[in-house]
Amino acid sequence: MLSEGAGELVRVLRQMPPMTRTELGDSTGWARTTVNSRLEELLTAGLVRSAEPMNGARGRPASRFTLEPSRGALLVADVGASSARLARADLAGAVAEHESVPLWIGDGPDAVLGLICERLSRIRDAAPAPVWGVGISLPGPIDSREGRVVSPPIMTGWDGLAVPEVVEPALGAPVLVENDSNAMAWGEHVTAEPPADELIFVKVGTGVGAGFVTGGRLVRGAHGAAGDLGHTRGEPPHGGEQPLCRCGKTGCVEAYAGAWAIERDLRAAGQDVGSTPEVLRLIAQGNPHAVRLVRDAGRVLGGALAHAVSLLNPAEIVVGGQVAAVAGEHLLSGIREHVAARALPLATRDLRIRLSDRPHEAGITGMADATSTWILGPSQLAAALNRVGPPPAPPL
Ligand SMILES: [Zn+2]
Repeated sequence: MLSEGAGELVRVLRQMPPMTRTELGDSTGWARTTVNSRLEELLTAGLVRSAEPMNGARGRPASRFTLEPSRGALLVADVGASSARLARADLAGAVAEHESVPLWIGDGPDAVLGLICERLSRIRDAAPAPVWGVGISLPGPIDSREGRVVSPPIMTGWDGLAVPEVVEPALGAPVLVENDSNAMAWGEHVTAEPPADELIFVKVGTGVGAGFVTGGRLVRGAHGAAGDLGHTRGEPPHGGEQPLCRCGKTGCVEAYAGAWAIERDLRAAGQDVGSTPEVLRLIAQGNPHAVRLVRDAGRVLGGALAHAVSLLNPAEIVVGGQVAAVAGEHLLSGIREHVAARALPLATRDLRIRLSDRPHEAGITGMADATSTWILGPSQLAAALNRVGPPPAPPL
């Protein structure tokens, strides 16, 4: 059984470079004996190892200690509407390898989670260490307390499903579920150098979603519904009637800016399109109808983001998702124009608005890091250690 204090030390070591006993005492304020006993617990549990001693130290160099990330493995899935990325990560959340698999989220949870569990169990069987936890991001509203999908607009058959109740028995480890835009926002936060602590991430794909990071923390809200920018009211770019949204309301941002809405408007303009990939192809080819619609989409997004900028004063807006990846500046210019015109100068003075540098990896990176934070956190760590048992004995 791991003490609470040793658990705290795990979290300190995860955030910090390797440290000596003295440095650990200085940074935590713990007495030397406390540092020693907590370190001893973690060494016995195989959760800490001594790193290279300090270079250039006189006399006997002091040992430095660091988290042992190979003590366990994490399984991670970043599930989108039409494909999923699956990965193994170490205990610190570093992604070791990943693969991609096509699927359709509307096929329902039996088909989709069945496929995900089957692929992840193969990754688990090949993992070099026991699996401590599983993280899954999904393209819909998630009640983060129980990992339950709540009234998703596109995920037919998923409403009310507590995902851990299905995945945990199949994979034999606890499961964290997160909304995909939140996972991507977190991925942008942890990979920025230095970490971006005040950030809005907007995903513009088939639908529109957003994730907010403020004060270095993901904003989930009371039930996990925070950041649902796509279903806030958008302003029609050319006046006129407000289009019906997939959520059942009219005039949502997504009903102008999501790829499905662009597809609807392309068809109305006489283009023969029937799927998101076809819409993306037309945008990438510079089709004039498609480009005009993307620019309009940028303006609607910019209007909605201006409110968010005024309320949260982020340092950065990062735009990702499939539409953003092909539309680039056509989308950003409308966003920039409307954010600058509508938010207060103090909030926009140093605001950076940019495309994601890692559109295909932000989600899996963010989900791996979030799963690591969760499994090493106070609610999970002791139970996880009990489940996986003692570390393997060192070779003789
Ligand atoms: Zn809507």
